[in-house]
Amino acid sequence: MSETLSPELLSALGTAAATDTLLVALDFDGTMSPLVDRAEDARALPGSAAALRELAQLPRTTTALISGRALDSLRLVASPEPETLLIGSHGAETWTGPDGAPLELTPSQAEVLRRATDAVQKVVDAHPGTLLELKPAGVVLHTRTADTDTAESAATAARSALTAIEGAHLSAGKNVLELSVVQADKGRGLQSLRELTGATAVIFAGDDVTDEHALKTLTAPDVGIKVGSGDTAADYRITSPEQLVQVLRELVTLRRAGVRA
Ligand SMILES: [Mg+2]
Repeated sequence: MSETLSPELLSALGTAAATDTLLVALDFDGTMSPLVDRAEDARALPGSAAALRELAQLPRTTTALISGRALDSLRLVASPEPETLLIGSHGAETWTGPDGAPLELTPSQAEVLRRATDAVQKVVDAHPGTLLELKPAGVVLHTRTADTDTAESAATAARSALTAIEGAHLSAGKNVLELSVVQADKGRGLQSLRELTGATAVIFAGDDVTDEHALKTLTAPDVGIKVGSGDTAADYRITSPEQLVQVLRELVTLRRAGVRA
């Protein structure tokens, strides 16, 4: 599985690693972890988890996970180091340390979430193999475990029911349709971490369409990496989570040299 990294990517990583304050932010599912059918079975590849731990220990270097998962679910599968900042629910939930404020919904947001949950539950009841996931600020229809026709008709039914609800923010990913009652995306999430850490360069990698919001915020010396196929705003592409292990290992070496320089 180990194809070599492109010279262009290696060179960009080298430049970013020489920056003063570095933020390494990564999507989890499909990026740190191979995609799995059961969300709770996802785990980071050991090589990526180890490299991220090493990066977190380096001076002027912050690590973060930016996931569509609810924070609780992200913690469960990622077992992040306490130094690693967390963005969950595509930016609706943020953990930047013990002093950060937890998410609280307004009464009207809670009402929108209740109506949306009812709507998705009806769709799931009528479409075998689909699943509902409730998050603190949203509800998700998962269609990965349904057959293709059922998945398509469930997504269509859910989309039409949910767009009728005011105050609902819809986003689609790979085999998921998600409603959030908080306007959030990974771009805003990444931007908030950039400001919080005062990063002078950001490295971000992600595999899904929702990661494009974050990738679009990047400009050199930032490094945006798309994992796998599909349209992207990223300047660099790798084939798989396995190849991310190589990227992160290189980055550990380069950043070690960078903080010493
Ligand atoms: Mg992903």
